Amino acid sequence: MPCRTPTRNRIDTQVHSQNANFACIDSIHTRITPCNKDIYRLVSTLPEAQDHPSPAHAMNQSTALAIDAAPPTVADVLDGLLHEEFTLNYQPQVDAMDGRLVGFEALARWHSPRFGQVSPLLFVNLLEQAGHIHDLWDGILTCASSDLPALTTGFGNPLHVALNLSPQQLQDPELSSRFGHWLARRQIDGSQIHIEITESTLLNSNSTMLDNLDRFTRDGIALWLDDFGTGYSGLRHLRELPVAGLKIDKSFVDRLESDLDDFRIVSAITAMACSLGLKIVAEGVETEAQMQMLSQLGCTTLQGYLIGRPAPLDSLQQTWASRPIN
Ligand code: C2E
Ligand code: CA
Ligand code: CA
Repeated sequence: MPCRTPTRNRIDTQVHSQNANFACIDSIHTRITPCNKDIYRLVSTLPEAQDHPSPAHAMNQSTALAIDAAPPTVADVLDGLLHEEFTLNYQPQVDAMDGRLVGFEALARWHSPRFGQVSPLLFVNLLEQAGHIHDLWDGILTCASSDLPALTTGFGNPLHVALNLSPQQLQDPELSSRFGHWLARRQIDGSQIHIEITESTLLNSNSTMLDNLDRFTRDGIALWLDDFGTGYSGLRHLRELPVAGLKIDKSFVDRLESDLDDFRIVSAITAMACSLGLKIVAEGVETEAQMQMLSQLGCTTLQGYLIGRPAPLDSLQQTWASRPIN
């Protein structure tokens, strides 16, 4: 994932001038070694830092992560799961042509009484390293269990909900069949579920993973490649796997207006997807100009703060239920 140095510099400057304790953010990065390539992303995606435009407010809120000198360990994350401190937020996705709401992406949130709001990048990595990512999945299904019926049918048109799966989960030979039964018990149609896996997940694909993906698609679940353009999977996967669509990584969307190369890359991805009959979600859309360019380039779906931030179901019901749905 490309680094966003300016954001990090900006945040670090504020951090060091306002709260010396915040230096422990750096120790988090140093300890969570697989995150190292994502250091800047981790800082810049701290939910509070995004959600509160005022720097002072952002830092006061984000300091919650730094109150405790030690960063969360996997035992802390598991303890948080045990005490039901995890929730799901849902980010709206709209049709690029007419702005119609088409679905949501479910994003896990951990608000710890001890650590404050913790980035999913951090706790997902911790759980993955310790072989406990399945515990998060169980927690997610518990939350989704009550929210999915309202999300898929409560906004007028039938909508989809996209769930993120990490590579390790796909190594569980029972994953897709258990999930299929879980959906059936709740009478949720597979066609209302999208599964998102990162492009780089496919780098080490094996028969267990491919069997899981195959079973998902047989249940009508659409498979999406996340963070497309940043991984190393190779384009052959697009014809070998039952992929329904691609999610163009936010880093390309960010520089669409300023970097001709990124503009060309997005054009090439959309042209290729279109000729292969794949759909395209552009994620991280923050400006009107990006929205217009992405629509003109042929993106089918848009997701980003411009359209709506990830939010709990009840808040989405207030914001979106009142909007006309085409
Ligand atoms: P992702 O799947 O690529 O999710 C998109 C991330 O971009 C989310 O960050 C979302 O809040 C953020 N985002 C969306 N639109 C915008 C925008 O316009 N501007 C900016 N600055 N950010 C935007 P979040 O929620 O912090 O999640 C980070 C990553 O953590 C996710 O990246 C995903 O890889 C992982 N993750 C989150 N929830 C889960 C989960 O339930 N399971 C698994 N396995 N991974 C998860
Ligand atoms: Ca995703
Ligand atoms: Ca993504």
